[in-house]
Amino acid sequence: MCDLCLAGARLAPIARRNLLKLGAAAAAAAAIAPHALAAPAKAPPKPENVLSPDDALARLMSGNARYVDGVSRRHDFKHEREALSGGQNPFAAVLSCADSRIAPELCFDTARGDLFVCRVAGNFASDDIVASMEYAVQVLHAPLILVLGHGSCGAVDATIKSIQDNTTLPGHLPALVAALAPAVNAVKAMPGDLLANATARNVAMNVEKLKAAAPILKSFVDDKKIRVVGGVYELKSGHVTLLT
Ligand SMILES: [Zn+2]
Repeated sequence: MCDLCLAGARLAPIARRNLLKLGAAAAAAAAIAPHALAAPAKAPPKPENVLSPDDALARLMSGNARYVDGVSRRHDFKHEREALSGGQNPFAAVLSCADSRIAPELCFDTARGDLFVCRVAGNFASDDIVASMEYAVQVLHAPLILVLGHGSCGAVDATIKSIQDNTTLPGHLPALVAALAPAVNAVKAMPGDLLANATARNVAMNVEKLKAAAPILKSFVDDKKIRVVGGVYELKSGHVTLLT
């Protein structure tokens, strides 16, 4: 049985209170396992991952600093696997580009069970991604969501060229272009590097989209239970710069 099947059993007291505000959909989720809601809360497999949103962000950035400096920790995957066989409580969720040069677990020097990662070329929040983030926040209690763009993003660059050349890309690629075009169009008249500007704007727009995703993520943001932040990964140094 996967974690999603156990969702009802994982709803902690805070999440249960939020259900009262989350409308019919969440109420229906609670209704599927009323007996499970009465069960005592299970201890998180990684107690060190129970963090405030601010502390979770600080931990991410200190991990990135170790990665940049080449002093990443050694992770004992054997014992981590065993400890996590019964559950997970990641301290952050990351929406990253699929680019092979970006590896969130590596660039934040984290172990298994620490990050809930969704990856798609162009790091944009489709409905599927929003749903995954809802699961990370409501069921797994992740206190932080990071949208992570990066320099020289091929998906953003292809969108820019498609718009500038007025061409239609083959296959399913126009779906990516449609998702990223609002960010490109929003900055195309700005001075400076269009690719860098569009990448940053795309991150910012998807941060706002996730913050506003009612009923679940918006409720957690409004109650200050989670933070949603954006950052850009620099390919040469590995440094992540947070967007304000
Ligand atoms: Zn990319």
